[in-house]
Formats: sequence, structure tokens, C-alpha cells
Amino acid sequence: MLNDNNQLNAWDRDHFFHPSTHMGTHARGESNTRVMSSGEGVYITDKTGRQSLDAFAGLYCVNVGYGRQKIVDAIAEQAKNLAYYHAYVGHGTKASITLARMIVERSPKGMSRVYFGLSGSDANETNLKLIWYYNNVLGRPEKKKIISRWRGYHGSGVMTGSLTGLELFHRAFDLPRTPILHTEAPYYFRRADRSQTGEQFSQYCADKLEEMILAEGPETIAAFIGEPVLGTGGIVPPPADYWEKIQAVLAKYDVLLVADEVITGFGRLGTMFGSDRYGMSPDLITIAKGLTSAYAPLSGSIVSDKMWQVLVQGSDRMGAIGHGWTYSAHPLCVAAGIANLELIDEMNLVENAFSVGTYFRQQLTDALSEHRHVGEVRGEGLMAAVEFVEDRSDRRFFDPSKAIGQKVAAALLERGVIGRAMPQGDILGLAPPLCLTREEADVIVKAARAAVDAVFPSGSRL
Ligand code: PLP
Repeated sequence: MLNDNNQLNAWDRDHFFHPSTHMGTHARGESNTRVMSSGEGVYITDKTGRQSLDAFAGLYCVNVGYGRQKIVDAIAEQAKNLAYYHAYVGHGTKASITLARMIVERSPKGMSRVYFGLSGSDANETNLKLIWYYNNVLGRPEKKKIISRWRGYHGSGVMTGSLTGLELFHRAFDLPRTPILHTEAPYYFRRADRSQTGEQFSQYCADKLEEMILAEGPETIAAFIGEPVLGTGGIVPPPADYWEKIQAVLAKYDVLLVADEVITGFGRLGTMFGSDRYGMSPDLITIAKGLTSAYAPLSGSIVSDKMWQVLVQGSDRMGAIGHGWTYSAHPLCVAAGIANLELIDEMNLVENAFSVGTYFRQQLTDALSEHRHVGEVRGEGLMAAVEFVEDRSDRRFFDPSKAIGQKVAAALLERGVIGRAMPQGDILGLAPPLCLTREEADVIVKAARAAVDAVFPSGSRL
């Protein structure tokens, strides 16, 4: 057993190029390899037999929890019957057609078609192309710029990495590229003017957006993209009226709205979509993660009827749309998607995310919000974050070299719970599977409090 693990670790360091990993420390064996081998519900077990409560659901994606036989059986059944056929030139499977229908049925009003991909990144690439195609069909070749937000996360490709507004994902990659612009994030805790109320800060964000549109020329701005709740940028719900104010600006200048619901789609916020939670009326919705709970890779762009009507005119004029992936609507993945969406209904997970999410965030707030190094405990549904500060009174942040967020996440892991040190700031992110129980929520909160105490051993209370 030991030898086997040592051998795997050596091969891992020598041959496996890991995403989002420090290449040098990992290859030199200065950081750990953790080989995962099985999972059940909210728990995951590694090859040494060590079990952890996964309070980040993988990468906020294993929403139904691990080990769901129904999804495994659906994939196996589809593999037996037909493991693959493409979706080009009008082809499909019963599963791909059924899943498209199920997604649109669950979507906010006005949505009409689903274009399938494999990752959140490729779905956002599809969105950009559809937006550009749409404006070309409408005879507006200048209207091509996309406004994203600082701290938004929309993927790691060339264009989607450009949409992403996090420094780490741009650094040394020559990103962002044109025609992508970034505006203010609705990050109330980090607002520059601390005298602003939530409403004033929302108005400020909307004003900044309008200023940018006017400075660039409204005839050049095609779309605005945003996550209903900022995810990788720090798990930040917007102030209450942010989306209402943003949408008013977009409507004024005929700018499309892309709701990136890769994290928030299918229940994470306690509503089927984040758009439902915040009264958003998007033209495109990006989905991935929770669509299959990551049992198989699948993403989608949900297209509104308004856009679809224009896209069709394009084909009537120019022929078949020149955009396709070999694995679009892959039968094994869509079979997983159907079983997953059925399971979400059967297990009542959207409601559970709301009720257990409310309980979980309250417990987390009670346990940590008075700590002298906790600046904010925030969240929505089953997404939560704890942001650490050096000094609460003047909201002074720690020097990043102290790596406080990473230390808290490591201390949490030592106590049997997986959380995530968010990449920009000292922020502990928590986004457990939507099947979380109150008892499991208590386990996370207790471990989080103990981890914070371990990182700040003296004088924790104010
Ligand atoms: N959009 C959002 C909001 C995400 O959180 C992510 C991934 O975390 C993506 C897009 C990119 O998805 P993927 O990693 O599947 O390419």
C-alpha cells in the first residue's frame, strides 16, 4: 500500500501537469499529492483511507453529492446502447433532446434553446461567438465589445480568460485581449468609499458601467457578462438592488446580458437559477457544473428566444452556423444530466439549499463574525465565504505573503473538512453539496472555528 502510494506520488510529480498548481513546488515534492479514490454523500476518501467532508463539492460542482447510483446507471445504460454519436447537421439522441427540453423548462422566462459544450469555458466561448454573430446579422458590425467585471470568473481560455477579471489568470498570458473591458465588481465589503450604503454602492456600480458605455460609444458595446453571485472572485453576493440597476443601464443602450450561472445554475442559491433569485432577464445563460453534478463533463449556453430569432435569420442568409464541438451533447454526458436533474427534484435539493443554506450561514456567522480577524461572513444559499482582515476597525487587509487564507484552509483540512482558499484575498470559500444536512453543516462550522483559532492562537475575541 505504502509503496504503491509512493510510486504514484513519484509518477505524479514527474508526469502530471496539474491545473492551478504551483509547478515548481509540486514537481520538487515540496507540496502534497492527494490521490482521491471514492466518495459517498458529502464525504470523499483518499487512497490512504483518509476521509474528508468536502465542503467545496469538488469545485462547487458535485451538487447531488458523491456516489449517486442513479447517475452511474444512466451513464452505463447509455454507454451500452450508444456511447457516441455527434450532434452536427440535426443529429441527436433521445437523451440530448430530452435534456435540452428539461433545461429550458427549468430556465427563467424567455429562454428557448440549448447549445451543449463540455466546460464552462467553452460555453462562454460559444456565448461570445453568438453575440458577435447576432450583431453581424443585425448589421451592427461595430457592436462587439464585451464588458465583464473585475473579480469575475468566466473561464481559462484565451477569450474567457480575458473575461475573467482576476490578475492570476492574466499574469504572463498576455491577457486580457480586446475587445474585453472590465468594470467595477459589486463587492460591497471592499468598496472604496466606506460611507456608501448598499443602495448607493449599487448606483455607483451602475454609474461606472454607464460611464464606460458612453466613453466607448454605446454603438460598440455588445454585451455585459456577470455571475449572479461572484464566485471565484471571492463568493460575493451583490447588494440587493445591484442587478435591477445594472439591467436598467443595459436596456438603455441595447446591451445584451449574459448570466454566467456555471456555479449558481440548478439550485446552489436556493433557487433553480441565480437569475430567479435576483430578477435577472438574461439573453444568454452559461451552465455547466451543477448540470451533471460533474459526473460527466457537460456545459451549455441557454439562448433566449429574442436572440434565437436573429440567429435563425443568419442561417437563412449564410447557411449552417460554423460553430461545433465533436463532443457537443455527448450521449454519456447528457444521460448523466437527465439523471442528475431528476435527482435534484427527487431529493428536493433546491429547497434544501435554501433551508440548510440559511441555517449553515447563520451558524457560520454566529461562530465567526465576532472574531477580531474576520472582516465579513457572507453568502447566499449554499455558498459562503469568510474574509479575514488584519484589523477590523480600519478594514486593513493582511499582506498577501502571509497567506492567511491558505493557512486557514490547510487548518480546516487537518480537521477533516475541505474548504477553498479563494485566489485573490484572504478568503475561505465554502460551497458544500446541496444535499448537506444540518448535522453536516454543524461539522463544517465547528471545524472552521477551530481552524481559525489554530491560525490565530491568541486573543481571537474582540
Ligand atoms: N464560469 C464560472 C462562473 C465558473 O465558476 C467557471 C469555473 O469555475 C467557469 C465559467 C469555467 O468553467 P470550466 O472550468 O468548466 O471551464
